[in-house]
Amino acid sequence: MVTHDVIIVGAGLAGMRAALEVCGSLDTAIVSKVYPTRSHSGAAQGGVAASLANSSDDSWEIHMYDTVKGSDFLGDQDAIEMMVKDAPEAIIEMEHMGCIFSRTGDGKIAQRYFGGHSRPRACYAADRTGHALLHSLSEQVMRNASKIKIYSEWYILSLIVHDNICKGVVAYDIKNGRLEVLRGKAVIFATGGYGRAFRITSNAFASTGDGIVAAYRAGIPLEDMEFVQFHPTGLYEQGILISEAARGEGGYLINGKGERFMERYAKSMMELAPRDIVSRSEQTEINEGRGIDGKNFIYLDLRHLSREKIMERLPQVRQLGIDFIGIDCIEKPLPIQPTVHYSMGGIPTDRDGQVIINDKGTKVTGFYAAGECSCVSVHGANRLGTNSLLDALVFGRRAGQSVLESAKDFQLHDVNEDTEITSAKTEINTIFNASGNENMNNIRNGLKDIMMSECGIFRNREGLELCLNKIKGLQDRFKKAKITDRSKVFNTDLIESIELRHMLEYSEVIIVSALAREESRGSHARTDFSKRDDVKWLKHTLAYKGDDGEIELKYKPVAITRYQPEERKY
Ligand SMILES: Cc1cc2nc3c(=O)[nH]c(=O)nc-3n(C[C@H](O)[C@H](O)[C@H](O)COP(=O)(O)OP(=O)(O)OC[C@H]3O[C@@H](n4cnc5c(N)ncnc54)[C@H](O)[C@@H]3O)c2cc1C
Repeated sequence: MVTHDVIIVGAGLAGMRAALEVCGSLDTAIVSKVYPTRSHSGAAQGGVAASLANSSDDSWEIHMYDTVKGSDFLGDQDAIEMMVKDAPEAIIEMEHMGCIFSRTGDGKIAQRYFGGHSRPRACYAADRTGHALLHSLSEQVMRNASKIKIYSEWYILSLIVHDNICKGVVAYDIKNGRLEVLRGKAVIFATGGYGRAFRITSNAFASTGDGIVAAYRAGIPLEDMEFVQFHPTGLYEQGILISEAARGEGGYLINGKGERFMERYAKSMMELAPRDIVSRSEQTEINEGRGIDGKNFIYLDLRHLSREKIMERLPQVRQLGIDFIGIDCIEKPLPIQPTVHYSMGGIPTDRDGQVIINDKGTKVTGFYAAGECSCVSVHGANRLGTNSLLDALVFGRRAGQSVLESAKDFQLHDVNEDTEITSAKTEINTIFNASGNENMNNIRNGLKDIMMSECGIFRNREGLELCLNKIKGLQDRFKKAKITDRSKVFNTDLIESIELRHMLEYSEVIIVSALAREESRGSHARTDFSKRDDVKWLKHTLAYKGDDGEIELKYKPVAITRYQPEERKY
């Protein structure tokens, strides 16, 4: 059995940031199913938010208000306050670690506008911000190589929690098919998002919600899973992200009639309204026949920005257009459609990243979560762009600090290695031994299509019920699906099947949570309940896995400190 003081699962921004915090005095391990710098954080483009001292008319209070309003008043305001206050320090710290932020003429960190932010507060490294941040952290992790053991391409299958005490994880070494128990005094999950269950998504192949499913199966509820963010500008049919930075720099959205249609939906913020609003507006234009040539897309027009500005500030955006769709945005507008982008829901934590399991704040000893897999909740019903890299940095660090502070109280707990390994083996063997004629790809495609069409930007009872039935059918079919590769070495067939099983499981939680929430708030838009309903629904959903496998829903209140809910206008 492998033993460490702290086991961090995930090597994105949240995981690596947490590791740097604890590695000075605790024996630290990072486990990642992909090579660390291939984590999805590296794909982030547009920026990371902070009200820096050099932006004279910005302040943490304004950043906080923008975030609360952006969240459609579902974000927990105590946590948001903490995040926006920590933000400037988090950025300066990254700068000191070597992150190459873009600069103003007088050498300060440059900042640009982003959706829903009333001030230009996105710090950026051209349009490769996530890449710059992730690699800076990775360099620091390398520098501390003697203190941080990295298990690269190890896949976590389950979380070991008994009597509310977390004891470790069970991992599968992808290189040789070996199962291993990793025992730790504390476990931090930083396993990222779950957007891959949808047909059109900007998410990496690895964003399959493994961490949240492991927690859910271990008895931990999932919070606010119904809130799945669509980003307004994915490349048509590919879903690949064209950063909001393109609109932050002044790009227009144009419909089939040549109109800048955002005028109808958000007169003051136009293209830079929050993502839920812009995505709904685009979809409405498309649904009402005003897509380009009546088709399923509209245009993002950057031509007026000039070649020089595009080459300097948006080089990756330009290259993505050329590589994936054969269009150079300097010369032609880009065909785009909304793409599933971010998971507001996840593992409930307190402001120090410790996992809590109910409305009374009961903690799981030794278990923490940070970054996109967690729900603190700083994003509520809709995240503002650039607040997520910030969330991952701030709460990755806080989770690390909190582990450090509690370390003296931690101990290693006994784990029955045989039982844990046997149960993981059984999980794997059910896939190897399945007999039937079903095909994993067909099941995956079925899932993606139905989630996209019935649990997407617009939802209603009829569609969600259809979706739920279909998913249950897909779960049954999964049991009869065979895989062809039976080897132990780099069996990606097996890994993708396990990921599919996870997607089928959390998709059901998304749908059941969405069916129950009979209102429209942030990214959750019900055509049969089109208004926000603060009387009944100003609360967080907690979805538990019942003993019979059925989902049980409970709720907990929203933390409201400074800003009372008001109508959301832009
Ligand atoms: C294309 C794109 C652009 C974005 N641009 C921005 C932006 O400009 N600004 C912004 O604020 N946000 C942006 N976001 C969102 C932001 O990048 C993410 O929310 C954030 O990076 C998540 O970081 P993380 O550390 O939580 O997880 P990730 O970076 O996703 O890392 C997850 C880690 O968990 C590991 N893992 C997962 N499952 C397992 C398992 N079973 N076993 C072992 N390891 C596992 C993975 O290997 C990986 O290391 C963007 C997102 C996308 C998809």
